[in-house]
Amino acid sequence: MGIGTAVILGSGTSNGVPMLGHVYPPGYLDNPKNHRRRASILLQGPTGNLLIDCPPELRLQLTDAGIYDIEAVLISHTHADHVMGMDDLRSICMVTGKPITVYARSDHQVDIKRIFEYAFREFPPGVVVPRFDLIEVPELLNVGGMEIRTFVVDHGKMKVVGVRVNDFAYITDVSYIPPEAEELLYGLDAFVVDGVRYKPHPNHFNFDQALECIAKLKPKRAYLTHLSHDYDHDVTRRNLPDGVDLAYDGLEIAF
Ligand SMILES: [Zn+2]
Repeated sequence: MGIGTAVILGSGTSNGVPMLGHVYPPGYLDNPKNHRRRASILLQGPTGNLLIDCPPELRLQLTDAGIYDIEAVLISHTHADHVMGMDDLRSICMVTGKPITVYARSDHQVDIKRIFEYAFREFPPGVVVPRFDLIEVPELLNVGGMEIRTFVVDHGKMKVVGVRVNDFAYITDVSYIPPEAEELLYGLDAFVVDGVRYKPHPNHFNFDQALECIAKLKPKRAYLTHLSHDYDHDVTRRNLPDGVDLAYDGLEIAF
């Protein structure tokens, strides 16, 4: 019996799909599943929601999904496509009248304070800026009635936080899973993992590496995410191994 639902708010790579300036073949954009916002996920628990990452489209992602409450935010890492929507959290601070809890590694907190410097400054009454209550990512995160295990993977030189809750795990941007993280990733029912494109990438699992990782960990179901326009949803998924699929914006996975 599951306790929650993971909602894929964005399944796209850093450019999003369609990418600015790129002309697509006829028909490609007719499929809504080929429209990919930047990577983000919501974990809906029995008593609240954890938002993982704040892409530039955050307001649209949350309003389209009908999400009104965010108990806390977890930042996987501070590349632009994962944090540039943090200003949108200002609206939630306005509604609740308090800072929003943001879990981030201390190295990522430095970036957040630099990028959103104004969010930590004093302002006269009546001026509303986002307020972030930055907290180091604990190994066990209790949010929304969920007990979420966090771990760290490599994304090129950057560290990225992944999560496991029950038999569900999510790893956005990743190029290497260290053994101490890997041991937490066996026995999964559903696994969502980076598979950015077909060609090798220095900072991401490409298609073949994602499939190798899935073949090793043997989750019952796996979904590739952080997807570029290499993938034509309906065409690609016909040729995927059993139990492997492409994520898409709006996909819901019970856990
Ligand atoms: Zn990244």
